[in-house]
Amino acid sequence: MSEKSPRLRAELDGIPTYKPGKPAAAGGPVAFKLSSNENPYPPLPGVLESVVAAAGHFNRYPDMACTGLVNELAERFGVPVEHIATGTGSVGVAQSLIQSTAGPGDEVIYAWRSFEAYPIIVQISGATPVQVPLTDGDVHDLDAMFEAITERTRLIFVCNPNNPTGTAVRRAELERFLDRVPSDVLVVLDEAYKEFVRDLEIPDGIELYRNRPNVAVLRTFSKAYGLAGLRVGFAVAHEPVAAALRKTAVPFGVSQLAQDAAVASLRAEDELMGRVGSLVGERARVYGTLLAQGWTVVPETQANFVWMRLGERTADFAAACEKAGVVVRPFAGEGLRVTIGEPEANDLFLHTAEAFFKEL
Ligand SMILES: *Cc1c(COP(=O)(O)O)cnc(C)c1O
Repeated sequence: MSEKSPRLRAELDGIPTYKPGKPAAAGGPVAFKLSSNENPYPPLPGVLESVVAAAGHFNRYPDMACTGLVNELAERFGVPVEHIATGTGSVGVAQSLIQSTAGPGDEVIYAWRSFEAYPIIVQISGATPVQVPLTDGDVHDLDAMFEAITERTRLIFVCNPNNPTGTAVRRAELERFLDRVPSDVLVVLDEAYKEFVRDLEIPDGIELYRNRPNVAVLRTFSKAYGLAGLRVGFAVAHEPVAAALRKTAVPFGVSQLAQDAAVASLRAEDELMGRVGSLVGERARVYGTLLAQGWTVVPETQANFVWMRLGERTADFAAACEKAGVVVRPFAGEGLRVTIGEPEANDLFLHTAEAFFKEL
């Protein structure tokens, strides 16, 4: 009897599996993970307590509507509760956004290089990814992205600040772009690193969304709030987009542990933003030291990482870092992204960078 294997959708052929940042080597003398843009600080005691308390009830399904969290978010952003949709990380919400807008024959535009999840989630939907190269300065090329719009365009991602380059588009250029995009094309402002932005010219997507029904904003608790392992993110969007997100979300996707931790984190915001401030300080130190060592580093990163365009030397430098006990994120032949971690990790990275540069 000839056995045929189950038929899988042709769209899945050639989709890369998401490549997580490498874990820090176990058992090494020192091992720091600067490869996934995580927050290096451990959970705040109060946040941890809320999760432990919620864990006592995990025989029950979570609140599917995330009522407590949604109410808290609506109040702090001054938006209707109906405009908030939650998901399993903002990647989960991004996938729902695509599921809600695009399928085979449709197009989704995003910059490249940008967040690695975009090509994956677009291709899963069967829609066609349209990648628009960044400018020479590694910034979104909004004019070229506008030119790429066709009758088939359904969604456009603007990753601001951009992962992995750390660059961000400013208010005037983004508003000009939004004013030109047809009103039936959804523009998603992915602001995963919003809390790390210090340049006042970089807009807050929530302000831009208010009078634009075709703009949605993605935020996450994974980075600044340090809840990467709990999987919770959200979108702020007008109806009917937010309603579509609630329809397409995986039922009960956000655990009660994640919901309670997110609420506790919002209430501990002063302390958490103090930590973000320390990381921003470290970012300036890392950036300044790399420049002083002679490296060319993409300027003005607004996120919790720096981008080094190393071209062919990328893999060698990544290997040298790993050998020294710091795991970074190389994109072979292009460049390397280093997360800003605890000062000790940053020091070790900077030492390695200095030694490597001298050998060049
Ligand atoms: C890290 C990141 C996210 C957030 O992912 P979660 O699923 O919320 O953990 C979203 N967008 C970008 C660009 C990111 O770098």
